[in-house]
Amino acid sequence: MTEAYVALGSNLGARLATLQAARVALQALPGLSGLRASRVYETEPVGGVPQGDFLNQVVRFDTTQRADALLQQLQAIERAQHRERLVHWGPRTLDLDLLYYGHLVMATPQLTLPHPEIGKRRFVLEPLLEVAHGSLRAQVHHLLATTPDTHWVRPYTEDKG
Ligand code: ATP
Ligand code: CA
Ligand code: CA
Repeated sequence: MTEAYVALGSNLGARLATLQAARVALQALPGLSGLRASRVYETEPVGGVPQGDFLNQVVRFDTTQRADALLQQLQAIERAQHRERLVHWGPRTLDLDLLYYGHLVMATPQLTLPHPEIGKRRFVLEPLLEVAHGSLRAQVHHLLATTPDTHWVRPYTEDKG
């Protein structure tokens, strides 16, 4: 059993419903247990492409799947949410990034672990801190205190629409 952390993001269509559907699909994956989710955050887009604000969230769970199989399952969930994206770092209905897979460190064209951008993204670090445990918690704390990212990130409340 390995502990995995996944970042969810959406800035097209019914963002909140998309995140919810993604969590339901994650829960149903074979070999997955103990899923915990952070709050949903609304966040300023990063990367210079003019686009709508994102909703972001981070989940943690235990899995018996290998990292490469898990990534394929994440990509299948993205496709099921009709992911479309025309511009790199542009708007998308659903993005699922594998942040950590236990302590695995690797870099292939398909999969880099840990995800290389974690420390540069407040929209990942803030929700990640809510679900990080063990030695990762202190690490994420440190990353949040030192990240150069100044884009705004705030808890999202549904009644704002
Ligand atoms: P970023 O990775 O900077 O967040 P992105 O999410 O927009 O960018 P995508 O187009 O969703 O990038 O993914 C491009 C490729 O990244 C995927 O095909 C996947 O194989 C690869 N990839 C490498 N490492 C990871 C990872 N840790 N999690 C998810 N995808 C990864
Ligand atoms: Ca991403
Ligand atoms: Ca991605």
